[in-house]
Amino acid sequence: MAGKIASGPTQSSTEPFRSTGTGMAPDVFKSDSGPLIIAGPCSAETEAQVLATACQLSEIGRIDIFRAGLWKPRTRPNSFEGVGQQGLPWLKKAKALTHLKTATEAANAHHIEHCLEQGIDFIWIGARTTVNPFLIEDIAEALRGADVPVLVKNPINPQIDLWIGAIERLYRKGVRQIAAVHRGFSHSAPGKLRYDPAWMIPIELKRHLPHIPLICDPSHMAGQRELIKPLAQMALDFGMEGLMIESHVHPAQAFSDTAQQLEPVQLKRLLSDLVVRRPGTQGHGIDQALDTLRNQINLTDTQIINALSKRMGLVREIGHLKRTHNIPVFQLERWDALQNERISQGCRAGLEDYFIKGLFDLIHAHSVEAQF
Ligand code: PEP
Ligand code: MN
Repeated sequence: MAGKIASGPTQSSTEPFRSTGTGMAPDVFKSDSGPLIIAGPCSAETEAQVLATACQLSEIGRIDIFRAGLWKPRTRPNSFEGVGQQGLPWLKKAKALTHLKTATEAANAHHIEHCLEQGIDFIWIGARTTVNPFLIEDIAEALRGADVPVLVKNPINPQIDLWIGAIERLYRKGVRQIAAVHRGFSHSAPGKLRYDPAWMIPIELKRHLPHIPLICDPSHMAGQRELIKPLAQMALDFGMEGLMIESHVHPAQAFSDTAQQLEPVQLKRLLSDLVVRRPGTQGHGIDQALDTLRNQINLTDTQIINALSKRMGLVREIGHLKRTHNIPVFQLERWDALQNERISQGCRAGLEDYFIKGLFDLIHAHSVEAQF
């Protein structure tokens, strides 16, 4: 399954976008001090909370953009759904006090109009909006002629074409300052993380749209503040250009996303612990060592492909035997036993169980198909 999800977008969806050309990555998403850092509360709750959070964040000296959600897409009704447009002047005040640029989420054309009227500096499109081409089209139309940069979060479900499609729709209406935000994807099996990072999807996005800056939101991905730092580090290790991290002066009293917000002082510590890798090569000795390791990886990958090809040959022979003896293709007990055995083998070899499980789910699905 993971392979299908990760598979690249169809030609027709990327071609118009690529052929119009996106030029260089827009400077507006670049920071003078390293990765672009966007921080602020999940929701704007009161003027005092917005101003206090913005001031404490600006004291860190490393925040580029202050975020706060005004219109909150909540899964269940009767949750706090945001203060709406009455919070726009609070963001303006926060900007006047701290000189931080402001960002909020817009989920329809009305939100865009309010944001443009009130001079919001950056608009982000949330995961639940990116999935909806009608809404994106309306939002793109409302943005026509405006010069505001837009951050497009990944769709909540793991379909790269929806993410690219939203970016394309904006681009076609003249929006030129676009970044993508990787915030993770819904997963059916509840895991440690709130959302599945599915790292191969943003990597695939970068491969198709190399000029679109890629920013990671480890807060929503993690769902718990303790898990944010390793995800943020992974994002930087993957070469992502920025981070969006939720921060609140009193996380325990937050109206939304309580467990995943950091106090500004905790965010300061997290940011100073992160290691920013230098792009490009780092000297002759390192280059040689990298080349040697990469050659070994190439060799190992070739062995894996040959082993998979041999395995598929055996699968086809089994398929033939089953067909000639009227035995059903899929046998649950055999599959359960095989998967458990592979997971134990993998663990003994120092591999993560979710990795072996995902890999063998894919191999098994393909093997069943090949037997028909
Ligand atoms: C948010 O950033 O507060 C938010 C609701 O994000 P997402 O769309 O990623 O859930
Ligand atoms: Mn949130």
